[in-house]
Amino acid sequence: MTEITNPFEIYKLLPQTNCGECTLLTCLAFSAAVIKGQKKLADCPYLKAEDKEQLADRVSIRQDFNRARGEDLEELKRRVGTINLSARASLLGGKMVSGKLAIKSLGKDFFVDARGSVTSECHTHAWMSIPLLSYIVHSSGVEPTGRWVPFRELRDGSPMNPLFEQRGEKPLKKLLDESSELLEDLLGMFSGSRADNRLFASDIALTLYPLPKVPILICYWSPEGDMDSDLTIFFDASAEKHLKIESLFSLGVGLVMMFEKIARKHT
Ligand code: SF4
Repeated sequence: MTEITNPFEIYKLLPQTNCGECTLLTCLAFSAAVIKGQKKLADCPYLKAEDKEQLADRVSIRQDFNRARGEDLEELKRRVGTINLSARASLLGGKMVSGKLAIKSLGKDFFVDARGSVTSECHTHAWMSIPLLSYIVHSSGVEPTGRWVPFRELRDGSPMNPLFEQRGEKPLKKLLDESSELLEDLLGMFSGSRADNRLFASDIALTLYPLPKVPILICYWSPEGDMDSDLTIFFDASAEKHLKIESLFSLGVGLVMMFEKIARKHT
């Protein structure tokens, strides 16, 4: 099932009379508001029941995604402001540098000050700020177990797994289908390392550290005969002791979005 990202997919099923009964001025504004989770399909009395049913699941996936991305940055900053960063630095696998907490993400230093502002030696990726601050606030500091699990097998992963596949694993598989050399580039750019691909009998296995104690393993199986290629992003079994599921989702999907950008630049 694919999520709805384009308001026109809803708009084309509306009467397009701009009657205003949903309290918005136009049917198009209503369509956009539904995708953002600000309106429900039921708020338009003229949308046919069968169309409503057909749209409902796809809209709810999109709304889940928006909620996941929308974990409150300001609230996280406020909570970081109440934490003694020096006392937590080594537990988090970081260190203090000029009064800021330095934490490595993908081999690059990210700096967090006492007010929760994030800066980086490269440019700060907006998608990284929420998982990073969330890690500072929530991490128990336990070491990775070395046991890898797919997103759906994380304790709270199952409900968001269809969206994780849609937004994370499928686009990354497509990138590698087009160019498996991309993985070599990622290894170099992000201090990744080749993992033992005998573990899941994959053709390529790569470990990355988006956060010091939250490694991920990307396994890719090349197409063979009639078999399509496949890809899974694994997390360490301890991942939810460091981040809530929404932040793990943001971390995985954010990484893939960054890889897509890099791949586009290369072509
Ligand atoms: S109530 Fe329905 S038809 Fe009327 S403006 Fe809103 S979306 Fe359009």
